Amino acid sequence: MRQPLVAGNWKMNGTRETIQMLVDGIKAGLGEVAKAEIAVCPPYVYIPMVVDMLAGTHVAVGGQDVSDQESGAYTGEVSGAMLRDVGASYAIVGHSERRSIYGESDAFTARKFAAARRFGLTPILCVGELLEEREQGITEAVVGRQLDAVIDLEGVAAIGEAVIAYEPVWAIGTGKTASPEQAQEVHAFIRQKLAALDAGVAEKVRILYGGSVKAANAEELFRMPDIDGGLIGGASLQADEFLAICRAPDAV
Ligand code: PEP
Repeated sequence: MRQPLVAGNWKMNGTRETIQMLVDGIKAGLGEVAKAEIAVCPPYVYIPMVVDMLAGTHVAVGGQDVSDQESGAYTGEVSGAMLRDVGASYAIVGHSERRSIYGESDAFTARKFAAARRFGLTPILCVGELLEEREQGITEAVVGRQLDAVIDLEGVAAIGEAVIAYEPVWAIGTGKTASPEQAQEVHAFIRQKLAALDAGVAEKVRILYGGSVKAANAEELFRMPDIDGGLIGGASLQADEFLAICRAPDAV
């Protein structure tokens, strides 16, 4: 039985003041969340503050990215060791904004995945197709290629110790959510692909859906058999909305 995970990706949003309010709001509602594991991924500079604020709760904290390097002359980078040092336990890798805006390749993403693991972080590996790729009917080929880059570098067992987030790029921040059936189809493809390599890994790995998830659609998405929670962008910036998504697995 996979525990659902709801992870908030705050992206480049927030100030000390607004983050304080957001975290206070989340903490106030934690008692009403039964099943889901919860994680939040603040901008790097706010991670220590958020870790301190969440001390004593079961909410995990993650980085939105991680360097593929360990330490040294890599201006602007933040290593997995640093994230661990300040109390993070997850790192998102391969978010579509990293892939499309910053040109991060499948191979580079795989190296970040490896670096996260090396320092004891659980990678949340984002995969997903562009709208034109879906229209060309190559969604599975794209998602399969993104997964293969990681499997080729780290082996399939490493996937079993990570989290996958299927995020169709056309659904991120656009208000367009994949239908539960569209999402389930790709989640099932991912699980079957892994099962062909290692049935235990396929059964164990949590596959989150991401792309305009909100309180109003979380339950119908999380009801799907291969959807194990969500990676939430915009809706994770409002405590009430985020908490309602965190409660959605309780109704499933
Ligand atoms: C994301 O950025 O991972 C995401 C899913 O964003 P949104 O929920 O805003 O579509």
